[in-house]
Parts: sequence; structure tokens; C-alpha cells
Amino acid sequence: MEFSYDDQNIFARILRGEIPNKTVFENDHALAFHDIEPQAPVHVLVIPKGAYVSLDHFAGAATPEEQAGFMQAVAEVCRITGVDDGFRAIANTRAHGVQDVPHFHLHIIGGRHLGRMLPK
Ligand code: AMP
Repeated sequence: MEFSYDDQNIFARILRGEIPNKTVFENDHALAFHDIEPQAPVHVLVIPKGAYVSLDHFAGAATPEEQAGFMQAVAEVCRITGVDDGFRAIANTRAHGVQDVPHFHLHIIGGRHLGRMLPK
């Protein structure tokens, strides 16, 4: 499929420094920051710095360096937030996944028991 990126989305604006964020970790290819409406004691968003709309876009088009940088950020977020008892990583995608912000982001959610993934 074709991916079209809207550079006015809120995470693009955060990356340009137009909107503040509570940064947890940053490297050359990724930024991690606290979700503004946390669903659990730990709720951090990891985003690539490149213009990717979704997980499938990022996985198919990002360079190996971008992908490695992103995964390093995920590891650092887990280390920094101390989610040793476990966590959930969620990438809501497009309409069926109820994605609100069209810049790829991975939610890292933890700090409490999260229940089953989906209602049966
Ligand atoms: P999604 O539904 O997966 O697209 O999730 C978007 C997430 O972005 C939601 O959990 C929002 O609470 C979060 N969010 C929206 N605006 C901001 C912001 N300015 N700073 C941090 N998180 C935000």
C-alpha cells in the first residue's frame, strides 16, 4: 500500500520542537516521551524521527540504522522505567486499530497488571 505522511500531525510538531514533551530517552533516530494521558503508571510513547505513519510503514521502509535506533530506544525506555514485571507494547494502526496520531508510535505500558490483551 501507499503511505502518505501528514507533517502537521502532533508528533511531527513535537519532533520539530513546536510542542513540548516530557522526554524519557532520545537518540539520533528515535524519541521517547511520556503519554499526555497515561493509561497506567508507566505509559511512554516511542517514535521514530523519520516520517513514517505506522508500524507497517516503518518496518517496510525505514533503514536498518533507523530500525536499530528505534529498538535501542525501546530497550532504554524499558530499562529506565523499570518495567521488570512486564509491560505491553502496542502499535495502534489505522482505522481498525484506532490510531489517532498518524506518526508511528509504540506505546510502552506497564507498572500494573494489564489484564488480557483483548476482550473475548
Ligand atoms: P494512538 O491512539 O495510538 O494514536 O495514541 C495516541 C496517543 O498520543 C494517545 O495515548 C494520546 O494520549 C497521546 N498524545 C496525544 N498528544 C500528545 C502529546 N502532546 N504528548 C504526549 N502524548 C500525546
